[in-house]
Amino acid sequence: MEELAVKCTNLTKSYHVDGSDTPALRGVTLAVKRGELMMLVGPSGCGKTTLLSVIAGILDHDSGECIVEGNNLAAMKEPARSRLRGRMLGFVFQAYNLIPTLTAAENVAVPLLIAKTPWDEAIERAEIVLGSVGLKEKVRALPRNLSGGQQQRVAIARALVHEPSLIVCDEPTSALDQDTGHRVMELFREVALSHNRTLLIVTHDSRIFSFADRLAHMNDGQIIDVVDARSAT
Ligand code: ADP
Repeated sequence: MEELAVKCTNLTKSYHVDGSDTPALRGVTLAVKRGELMMLVGPSGCGKTTLLSVIAGILDHDSGECIVEGNNLAAMKEPARSRLRGRMLGFVFQAYNLIPTLTAAENVAVPLLIAKTPWDEAIERAEIVLGSVGLKEKVRALPRNLSGGQQQRVAIARALVHEPSLIVCDEPTSALDQDTGHRVMELFREVALSHNRTLLIVTHDSRIFSFADRLAHMNDGQIIDVVDARSAT
């Protein structure tokens, strides 16, 4: 099995809006090892979300190479790319993107239902994962009846339910209080360590840096340093 979960080499990406170009990635080179929890940190606007979106296969890069779980994203066409996302990737984005008319358990079950898991089994597995993020009592609640932090945990459960090998998260603890944030990070660590899965987490939250194996510092569209988290905190 490939030892690196993600390997980016000289990635570039610019946004073109109203005739002007904004370079967001200016030659990103980054390797994320299988089974590690890496955090991506840096000032607002430095390109973190763009990098995460390229790695997640939902945004095309301009040049360079991005290999995810041994797959060269630029060489893949939809629907092969969406099959890869469905099977191997879990996402938690800043907007939780929960479906308002579905209960918490039904929202979490979506990746399983897409993969044609029978309904009852999908709901049962969704309820177990919701229990592990502390939402056992809320499995039948609609998103509008949940707090921001609870909705965030539903989004986290949805990213874990189909047991993807790579989980990418944008600010997963931003709406959580310190205790809940720590509980979620402990869950992420357990998931990464016990199942040899890989987590790449964008965060501003220095309180959770100690849960990382390594911190990748980003500035102005580049990775400027990758350090062992234990020596950084
Ligand atoms: P971060 O996640 O570190 O805050 P982003 O990846 O969101 O950084 O943004 C990197 C740069 O790209 C910024 O200058 C931002 O303004 C620009 N940018 C991000 N998304 C878009 C977009 N959809 N259209 C135009 N410019 C964008």
